[in-house]
Amino acid sequence: MNEHPEFTVETENIEATQEQLEAVYEAVRAVLRAERAEGRYPCIILTDDDTIHACNRDYRSVDRPTDVLSFPADEGEDLLAPPDGFLGDIMISVPTAERQASELGHSLERELAFLTVHGMLHLLGYDHIEPDDESRMLARQRALIAEIEPRLAPKDGARFAEGKTFTGEDEKQMGPNEITEMSIKERKSELIALALKARERAYVPYSGFRVGACLLTRSGQLFLGCNIENAAYSPTNCAERTALFKAVSEGETEFAALAVASDSEHYTYPCGVCRQVLSEFCAAEMPVFCANRDGSFIETTLGGLLPMAFTKEDMGS
Ligand SMILES: [Zn+2]
Repeated sequence: MNEHPEFTVETENIEATQEQLEAVYEAVRAVLRAERAEGRYPCIILTDDDTIHACNRDYRSVDRPTDVLSFPADEGEDLLAPPDGFLGDIMISVPTAERQASELGHSLERELAFLTVHGMLHLLGYDHIEPDDESRMLARQRALIAEIEPRLAPKDGARFAEGKTFTGEDEKQMGPNEITEMSIKERKSELIALALKARERAYVPYSGFRVGACLLTRSGQLFLGCNIENAAYSPTNCAERTALFKAVSEGETEFAALAVASDSEHYTYPCGVCRQVLSEFCAAEMPVFCANRDGSFIETTLGGLLPMAFTKEDMGS
């Protein structure tokens, strides 16, 4: 059974390669999964500047080409009710995407995936008119792109440009402004997506069991970690401690939340050693999101994972 029976990607006045179409499909699937909207479907049209210009003028009264337009099914002039599950239309200009990709230094596939995610989030009700809504949408976008990125054309080493997504190299650049705007609750899925992403860098020649962690500091920075194994086994370091040690060595000692994820279908819990190390720096109330490979998770706290912990407070006479 096809997991996306109805959704189509059409081309109009342009030709698209298999890789470009695949990037769009990948982005649609990732959004439907993450937003729990499986079974719903969009119609996506890849086209040229003239065609998107005409639509932009006729439907939005904006007389120029643009990169992406989305038309949610429930906002149409509705002479007919939309068919069950139909989300609406997304139109993307491939030539504009191409120009943006080259300005930003990444592949056209990545730009198409980004524009598809953006359009899909609009069809699902996200917008970026109010600042709060905008930061929510940007966070979703970033998390989704982080998730999709490893699956796109692996030969392309370039990363998304600033503001469009978020990778390990960017982790220090996530500013303090971002955390104050969004509660930890709203960032849960972002932290989990980034933990899944961090897993891609795991060095695990012995166990083959990849783990990733994403640690959010009180100052709003994100630190990613993966597990790093060693031929002598015992010097192996877990993902959670990698993230924590990176943060502490950069001067961060106060933490707001942790997400952990692995390749397993089971939820990924920090090991006993990591629980102890985390309790040196993190409050018992700190939320911990333990995810599986699909991004499903359970939410607990450090105190829930390590009750009656031995901490520095217990060393007094
Ligand atoms: Zn551990």
